[in-house]
Amino acid sequence: MDLPAQILTLLGIALGLTFGSFLNVVIVRLPIQLQSSWQKECQDFLDIEHEDVPTRSLNIIFPRSHCFSCQESLSFFQNIPIISFLILRGRCANCAAFISPQYPIVEILGATATTIALLNFGITITAASAIIFSYCLIILAFIDLREQLLPDQITMPLLWLGLIVNIGGTFTSLQAAVLGATFGYLGLWSIFWTFKLITGKEGMGYGDFKFLAALGAWLGWHMLPIILLVASSMALTAGMIGILSKRLNRGDAIAFGPYLALAGYLVLYLRESMFEVYLSLLNV
Ligand SMILES: [Zn+2]
Repeated sequence: MDLPAQILTLLGIALGLTFGSFLNVVIVRLPIQLQSSWQKECQDFLDIEHEDVPTRSLNIIFPRSHCFSCQESLSFFQNIPIISFLILRGRCANCAAFISPQYPIVEILGATATTIALLNFGITITAASAIIFSYCLIILAFIDLREQLLPDQITMPLLWLGLIVNIGGTFTSLQAAVLGATFGYLGLWSIFWTFKLITGKEGMGYGDFKFLAALGAWLGWHMLPIILLVASSMALTAGMIGILSKRLNRGDAIAFGPYLALAGYLVLYLRESMFEVYLSLLNV
C-alpha cells in the first residue's frame, strides 16, 4: 500500500506510543518475574524451606499499571504515553514520587522506530519485521541498563525470528543469517575466553553472545565486524566520558547490550553504505 508520508508518520507515532507503553511494562516486569522464579528454583534445588510468601503475582498484563512508590493504580488519564508524564511533570499524582524518565524515553524511541520502519518499508511485512526487531532492541537495551541482564526470553526468540524473516532474504540471505547466528555467538565467546585467560577478568556475559548471535541472524555474518566495531567504539567513548566525569571508576562494569542494540539498529538501515565504507577501509 502506498500511503503519503504524513499519514505513515502519524500512524507510526500512534502505533509506536501505544506499543512503547507496553515495552515499558516488559522492561520493568520481566526481570522481576525472572528473579522470583530463579529464587524459587534455587530454594527448591537446595531444599531450603521457604514460606510460600504470597509473592505479588505479577505478569505482563496483570496488575494494572501502578505507582511503584505508593502502589496506587493509574487511571486511564494518568496512563497516556508522554502526555500524562508532561501533565504530571514526572511525578505520581497520588504520592508525588518521581516517575522514571525511562517511561517517556522508551515511548519516544518506540514511536521513532515505528515511524522510521513505516517510512522506509511502507505497510509491509518487512516493516512489521523491522518494528519487532527495533522493539526487541529497545527492551534488551533498557533491561541491560537497569539490571545488567539480557534475558534469554528475548534474545532467543529474536534469533529464531531473524532466521525465519530471512528465509525469503528480507534483510540478508538465509545462508548469511545462519552463519551470522553461529559466528555471532562464537566470535564473542572466543573474545570472552581470550580476555579471561589473559586478564583473569570476565569482560562480558553470555547474554551478549546470544544477543550478537541474534543480530547476526537478522543482518548476516558479514555485518558482525561492523556491529562489533560500532558498538565497542561507542562503549569505549561512553566509558571514557564516564571516567573523565568521575561517574565511573576504572574497572567498573558497563552494560554492553545498549551499544550492541544501537549498533544493530544503525546497521539495519545503513548496512549497504556502512558495508561499502568498511570494504574501502579494508582496501587501504
Ligand atoms: Zn505514587
